[in-house]
Amino acid sequence: MEQKLREELVLYGKKLIASGLVQGTWGNISLRLDEKYMLVTPSGLDYMRLTASDMVKVEIETLCWEGEKKPTSEKGLHAAIYKGRPDIGAIIHTHSKYCSVFAAANKDMPVLEEYRDVFGDTVKLAKYALAGTEELMRNAAAAVGGGKGAIMANHGMVACGANLEDAFENCAKLEENGRKYLLTI
Ligand code: 13P
Ligand code: ZN
Repeated sequence: MEQKLREELVLYGKKLIASGLVQGTWGNISLRLDEKYMLVTPSGLDYMRLTASDMVKVEIETLCWEGEKKPTSEKGLHAAIYKGRPDIGAIIHTHSKYCSVFAAANKDMPVLEEYRDVFGDTVKLAKYALAGTEELMRNAAAAVGGGKGAIMANHGMVACGANLEDAFENCAKLEENGRKYLLTI
């Protein structure tokens, strides 16, 4: 089971690159392994070269990890969302282009009609905090609330879902919503 989920993370890392939602080594992905652990991408590594054994098993409550590889610097952001949301099984953080426009403008993202069933009327802006800090995790988890994503001020976005396929779809939808919204104004 764990091996299959590690392979799924590898696959979705490549899908994020192929879809243009992440560039280089930026962004990170996680999934919930069980009640206690999450599997996350390692910090600063090239998605196209990642293998299943590079994925890091991190305890959600303590952020302690197993193995040699360093987990993503945003592990706390992922853990904060899992802690408050038992319905969430996977999370993706990116600096994708159109979400970053809202992040740079420090604005909530209004949601177009076609995406309201997923995101409601507005995707909230999480207040700015330095990457990898406790404050960033708190702000981002609060902005996600009971929803499926958030814009992270001066940084990027986070999207989540019941599983990796769902989180990936929501990530692509949030970016597409941002692109289409900007075309309408
Ligand atoms: P990691 O390479 O540590 O996952 O960090 C990327 C990132 O997006 C930081 O906010
Ligand atoms: Zn980031």
